[in-house]
Amino acid sequence: MSQAKVKENDNKEIINCNNVNKWFGHHHVLKDVSLTVKKGEVLVILGPSGSGKSTFIRTINGLEEIQRGEITIDGISLSHDVKDIEAIRKETGMVFQQFNLFPHMTILKNITLAPIWVRKKPKADAEKTALELLERVGIPEQAHKYPGQLSGGQQQRVAIARALAMQPELMLFDEPTSALDPEMIKEVLDVMKELANSGMTMLVVTHEMGFAREVADRIVLFDEGEIIEQGTPEELFDNPKHERTKLFLSQIL
Ligand code: ADP
Ligand code: MG
Repeated sequence: MSQAKVKENDNKEIINCNNVNKWFGHHHVLKDVSLTVKKGEVLVILGPSGSGKSTFIRTINGLEEIQRGEITIDGISLSHDVKDIEAIRKETGMVFQQFNLFPHMTILKNITLAPIWVRKKPKADAEKTALELLERVGIPEQAHKYPGQLSGGQQQRVAIARALAMQPELMLFDEPTSALDPEMIKEVLDVMKELANSGMTMLVVTHEMGFAREVADRIVLFDEGEIIEQGTPEELFDNPKHERTKLFLSQIL
């Protein structure tokens, strides 16, 4: 882990995936995926389109069922038990490519909805936290607007604030900047960078190689539903071992 980062670094395993397998019908999309992530670690997932990246991170918060293998999040096994899945969802914040904000609610409402209804937080507390989070993501002045009045980059920062409002143990990002105009990518990556530096455990699917190199503690490369190679950014970018990694990097860099 990079020493510049302020991290709790207590070596606690927060995600443990053991031989995870998933099929969509006959299509085997995750093949014996095993991976552990420690508290405070920032893991970047790379790989070609269709390689199973989204499916994999969706399994981590129970959005996709798996058919074989085991996933444990912060000591809770993600079995078929609905209660376990609910417990894990509460610990896991997710940010999607499409921001998925509620269009008919103000930004403040979007952020306070789950804390009030799921966490049973008093409204005043939830609003105070929401305003602090909007400050943190750099858009405190947008609280009373509606999503449609904000730029894509601002909406994605709201989505991050909304996830953080649930005080998650870990954050999952699925191509959070892929739907953004180029000039808005940096403002979202900067928020993610700040979050990484604050010690948040993060799994990030992205094609932003600069971010991956600078912020990731570890990079894993997916191809056809398997982890082909993993290592530090230096290992993976400067000295890739697997032919498929070399091929992928040659296409994207
Ligand atoms: P990536 O995020 O790496 O582009 P995905 O995880 O979205 O890849 O998809 C992996 C494979 O699973 C692809 O072949 C995709 O077509 C297939 N797939 C994804 N979601 C579904 C679904 N809901 N039903 C059937 N097939 C799916
Ligand atoms: Mg995807």
